[in-house]
This record gives sequence, structure tokens and C-alpha cells, in this order.
Amino acid sequence: MQAIRLNARGKTGVVLAQIAPPPLLPGMARVRMLAASVNRVDLYMRESGAGITHTLPQTMGVDGVGEILDAPDGCGMSTGDRVIFYPYEFCGRCRHCLDGDQPLCTSARIFGEHRDGTFAEEIVAPMTSLMALPQDADIHGAAALGVAYLTAWRMVFGKAPVGPGQVVLVQGAGGGVSYAAMQLARMAGARVIVSTSGREKLDHFRQLGGEVIDYGTEDVAKTVLRLTGGDGADLVIDNVGERTWAASLRSAARGGHLVTCGATTGAHPSADIQRLFVRQLSVHGSTMGSFEEFRRLIKAFASGAFVPPIDSVFPLTEVPAAFDRLEAPDRLGKIIIDIARPAT
Ligand SMILES: [Zn+2]
Repeated sequence: MQAIRLNARGKTGVVLAQIAPPPLLPGMARVRMLAASVNRVDLYMRESGAGITHTLPQTMGVDGVGEILDAPDGCGMSTGDRVIFYPYEFCGRCRHCLDGDQPLCTSARIFGEHRDGTFAEEIVAPMTSLMALPQDADIHGAAALGVAYLTAWRMVFGKAPVGPGQVVLVQGAGGGVSYAAMQLARMAGARVIVSTSGREKLDHFRQLGGEVIDYGTEDVAKTVLRLTGGDGADLVIDNVGERTWAASLRSAARGGHLVTCGATTGAHPSADIQRLFVRQLSVHGSTMGSFEEFRRLIKAFASGAFVPPIDSVFPLTEVPAAFDRLEAPDRLGKIIIDIARPAT
């Protein structure tokens, strides 16, 4: 079968390879992959992978959707059923798994990071990492959910759940997770203010009918305070990092929350501790989401509550070009890898 393998670090280490299909192990399912998406973490794996236990070569790809080829008897799924990958293999026994918080599992393994991933024609995975996907669900849209939307879901509905009457600021809203957070916060009925830059992205968000701040020319915090009558945002979503963190802190309402899942522009901004305690702000770190959060996300997607925007679609053979597209400044929406057509 064909798979995108990371043989070594750097762009030249990403190759389309012909490899043997993985052996089917007890309790696991063999899945024929239909589609996946590219995520920033793929670039991290390509360039560094530091801090993630794994050995090369390894198949890349963290999320995706597929069709069951072979599943254990009595598991409730059968050949031809569509499934979406929960990005973790988790133990189901540690205190965090038993508490329903699988991302904190002490022996969690993420596809495409700790073990072979989804950029392959076939993959073998535990049944606990697969969730049924309605047969009529849009395959490309579903392929966008496993990382970007699951991560955004926990940021919006996790420790500081958003609802009607609240103000959410999403910094750098053109990014995959940030865009998803913007959609989910709007779905929840919150007032959403976004910051972005570049004329096309500014126009795009204005056409969506939201309040848009150009962080290239405007003071984000001052504008948020002006728009909210001096209150600020109840929740600030900031995956940009050092470049926006100070403005995010200054944009938060008294008693407000900041949540981060990434630090693209640097991981060590000023903490501004005085502002944290005087205004009683809370800062939350977030990574992906639990199996139950994933279930709710899939239900919301299947009901049409939001539609992931698709920037472009590449075949499995062109994953390296998809990675280039992920780094393009004008990219807006998810980049999908189309692996196979559904069986009819
Ligand atoms: Zn566990």
C-alpha cells in the first residue's frame, strides 16, 4: 500500500513509499482511509519532533476518516461502515482515562506523532480510537475535525464554557484551530470579535458578518475595549503566542479567561502577573479534547451546525505540496488529503 512516510527530518525526509499493510492485531480494526487533513503538528514532526517519543520511519497524519475493512466480532461495526479517527490511542485504565479526560492519559499515543498515522491507504487502529460517522456525512469536512475542531471545541466549551451574552476574542483567526473556535463560539451564541491581517482575510471575516480587527494597523486591546464599552472579552483565544499575548491579556474582561493551544510566534511572552491577579484572569492550556467532546463535536457537525471551510484538496501523492500550502500566508481553511473514493 502507499503511505506518506517521514524517513528523516526536513522536507526531503517526507516521501511517498510503498509499504506492507500493517498486521491486524486482536481488538483492532483495519480501516481503508478516505481522507485526512494536514495540521501544524505535521510540520513540527517534519522539522523537529522533539519531546515526542517515536522512531523513524513513521507514517504521518494525525486525523482522518475511513471505512472499516475488518473489525472484531461483536464490536458493533462492520465492513463498509464509515468511521472518524479520534486522534489518540489511550489506555482506558489510568486515572485520567477513568475520569473521561483521555488527552491527559499517561500512556496516550497520537497518530502520526507516537505511532503510524493516517496518510496511508490502510491503517490498523484500536476500536476505542474510532467513532461511527454517518454514511452521508461530507468526507472532506469530516476529515477536518479530528485535530483542529476537536482542539477548538475544548477551548470554547472546556474550562470556561462560552454561551450567549458573552464576548469572545479570537486572535489570528485565519489559523485552522482559531477559525474553528470562531465558528464554534458563534454556534454557541457568543459575540465573536476576530483579529487577523491581510486584505483577503479581513474581507473574508467581514463578509461573515463578524467584528474584525486588523492587527497590522489597529491596537487590538484598545479596539476590543471600545467595541465592548470598556468591558473586554470574557474569553480570549490565542494560539499566536508571543506576538499577540500582551494584547490578549489587555483585551480580557475582569475575571476573564485566556486559553491557548499553540505558540506559533514564540512561547515566552511577558506574564504580566500584576494584571493577572488584579483583574483575576485565568489562563488555560488546552490540547485536543476528550472522547465525549469528540462525540458532541461529530453530532454538531452531522447536524449542519457548522461547515469547515476547505482551502484546497490534494491527493495522497502530493502531501509535500499540501505542507507548502499550509505555510502560505493567504491560506484560509483546512487543507484536505483525498486518499480514496468511498465504496458505493
Ligand atoms: Zn489512560
